[in-house]
Amino acid sequence: MIDRTHEARRTSWVASAQGHADFPLQNLPLGVFSTPRDRRPRPGVAIGDEVLDLSALALSGLLDTALADAAPLLTADTLNPLLAQPASVRLALRHALFDLLADDAPHRARVAEMLSAASHVTLHLPARIGDYTDFYAGIHHALNVGRQFRPDQPLLPNYKWVPIGYHGRASSIVVSGTPVVRPNGQRRAPGQDTAAPDAGPSRRLDYELELGIWMGPGSSLGTPVPIAQAEAHIAGLCLLNDWSARDLQAWEYQPLGPFLAKNFATSISPWIVTTEALAPFRMRQPARPEGDPAPLPYLWDADDQAHGAFDLELDVYLSTPAMRARGAAAHRLARGHASHLYWTVAQLLAHHTVNGCNLQAGDLLGTGTISTPTPEGLGSLLELSEGGRRPVDLGEGETRTFLEDGDEVIMRARARRDGFASIGLGEVRGIVQPAPSLHVPLS
Ligand code: CA
Repeated sequence: MIDRTHEARRTSWVASAQGHADFPLQNLPLGVFSTPRDRRPRPGVAIGDEVLDLSALALSGLLDTALADAAPLLTADTLNPLLAQPASVRLALRHALFDLLADDAPHRARVAEMLSAASHVTLHLPARIGDYTDFYAGIHHALNVGRQFRPDQPLLPNYKWVPIGYHGRASSIVVSGTPVVRPNGQRRAPGQDTAAPDAGPSRRLDYELELGIWMGPGSSLGTPVPIAQAEAHIAGLCLLNDWSARDLQAWEYQPLGPFLAKNFATSISPWIVTTEALAPFRMRQPARPEGDPAPLPYLWDADDQAHGAFDLELDVYLSTPAMRARGAAAHRLARGHASHLYWTVAQLLAHHTVNGCNLQAGDLLGTGTISTPTPEGLGSLLELSEGGRRPVDLGEGETRTFLEDGDEVIMRARARRDGFASIGLGEVRGIVQPAPSLHVPLS
């Protein structure tokens, strides 16, 4: 999987790509963008601080003849047609883009005309998301939250056998930068377990740090995907913020699980960082603690155990209105790592399809909140503030237990490995807006 497109010494003639934190020549993530001059959403690739128009490239005749059939995929208004193709098509596109953007590339002047400054484009959701599933694979998050509710039994007995998940809502998935309106709903104050609920704005609004997994080629209804073939259905990753209203959640979640506490908004980073770009940053799935059950055979694959995890550092930042007013940088709340997932993405996919449930190109899976076993990388305020009991110190006299209106949550991810160019997933950000009035009639 590692080839010439991963060589660290190679650079791009696009000057801003040199040492770019997220999008050097070795990344080439896929997205959908539009410009003020051409408002049509169309596929693009991020290179440094620029976006290359893939629809213009497809029509230019500069793509290799091997990719001639791919031209219609690159002029669509979503990436769904491209995602439906096997990995070999993405790989051929990656090689062609690399050759056009590398220092020794021909046709530079013509390709340069197809670049737009990233600061001047609008980024859209990269695909039409048919279905969205959120898992719960971050075991330290599950333990931390479980301890708050069930000190004697933080993990339920099924956790180490079954990748826990639920079907989320695709219609409210939004691209980074979209404001997030504080949800209204039924609330009960903590500790008032016998009081009647009231309805109003969530008082315990939170974020969840997750990875999003983009489905490539779909699977057939009634046909499980064997774990050894699961990777062939995964196109790439993004960052995902699963906004969560903890007070709504605590009241509504039994017996059927998350509903309105989660489906008011889910923010994702705009770029699909492909599994091809991430190839150098795969790592062994950490060994399970002694005494944990071995995965059932349909969830076990030796190759997946050897390479199935991602070596990705994950950061969460908070920017409050007061910080912005004084020109201060966002405050880092957490630095975590993607290796703290109890299940690999291949295991999640094999489990999702074991019953015959079909996945489609452009479906999105969330991993579940990723937290570290130690306090520096907790993936939610619920954990950082210990359920709202311990305010988090933001400096300059500011604290938070949960999010306030005007707060902006920013997540970033970086892959590093000696001998390779570091790449990132880009960022996902969202600013909290006040809840709308419920217009409750006066009694
Ligand atoms: Ca979640």
